Amino acid sequence: MRTSDTIVRLDRLQKRYGTVVAVEEMSLAVPRGELLCLLGPSGCGKTTTLKMIAGFVPPSGGRILIDESDVTGVPAHRRDTGMVFQNYALFPHLTVAENIAFAPRNVGMKRDETRRRVDELLELVQLGGLARRYPAELSGGQQQRVALARALALRPAVLLLDEPLSNLDARLRMQMRDELRGLVSRLGTTTLLVTHDQEEALAMADRIVVMNKGAVEQIGSPDEIYERPTSRFVAEFIGRCNLLPVRPGNGGVVLADGTGIAIDGPVPADAGLLAVRPEHVTLAVPGSTALVGRVIRAVYHGAVTHLYLDAAGTEILADIPSAAARSVPTGTAVGIVFDPGHIRILP
Ligand code: ATP
Repeated sequence: MRTSDTIVRLDRLQKRYGTVVAVEEMSLAVPRGELLCLLGPSGCGKTTTLKMIAGFVPPSGGRILIDESDVTGVPAHRRDTGMVFQNYALFPHLTVAENIAFAPRNVGMKRDETRRRVDELLELVQLGGLARRYPAELSGGQQQRVALARALALRPAVLLLDEPLSNLDARLRMQMRDELRGLVSRLGTTTLLVTHDQEEALAMADRIVVMNKGAVEQIGSPDEIYERPTSRFVAEFIGRCNLLPVRPGNGGVVLADGTGIAIDGPVPADAGLLAVRPEHVTLAVPGSTALVGRVIRAVYHGAVTHLYLDAAGTEILADIPSAAARSVPTGTAVGIVFDPGHIRILP
């Protein structure tokens, strides 16, 4: 990547609160136009990272570069970033239009230009008729749009969104997810979005940074993160996953009960865990496979049924088309096959 393609660069960025390490030496390059999701469980340091980039939390170490200039000591309002807070933080005593006009007025933008900018942003977030309303007179989704318009008012190089959809109900969240993704693509604004919702990250991100206890666990595109997790933490945190203890052996790996499983490609010497998603587990006639089990429970989900299988004391989850699942009622002995192309061997 040419350096000029990088719009945000974190260089060993760190934050400590006393003895708590909120963010551990984080390094990251975000290319222009990317939508990057910071994903991880509560308390892993996502918000702290975002607030350090925005300039609201001073780092304990490391540097932040925006468009290749070091902004580590630069105040928030001079960083060319726009931020949407989790609770939106709209000014309650200002109308929608005044909220959006706040930053442009502060930097001395002319009245006409400010008015044009506000109209354009209201149009962009589809709030045309609500310019004179106060935040308290808006729904959660409308407040979210105002916060977004306000963050975009100075056309920032980088948009920072902290759990922007978490206060919306499930249906609206799905709708706003698609809308937000579309809006960010149309504007081409580089966006860093914090979420603890793995589905949201998979659906929206160009790349995902999975964080755990203040450190980066894995960085990759949604399908890399989902299909090729590099650690137990990522495999468990993103989607549902079967995780079986194994050791290398028999030219593949061997399960705890001695069953050998064939693996595509070489088996690392430190192999300790086999990860396979339920959708990559299929059933076969008993006797035709190395691994056998019994159906213990079936949970119907419409097109697919989640089958819970017991294989010599190990629970294995298989997502099976519901039509096929009907022919294997609880108690049926089945052969179990892991799709070799989708088995991951972890340390
Ligand atoms: P959430 O999804 O719950 O917001 P998060 O991943 O955004 O979590 P942070 O808010 O960044 O996590 O917090 C990271 C760690 O730093 C946590 O252990 C938190 O308790 C601690 N922390 C955050 N802010 C402060 C503060 N002002 N003083 C002391 N500790 C803090």
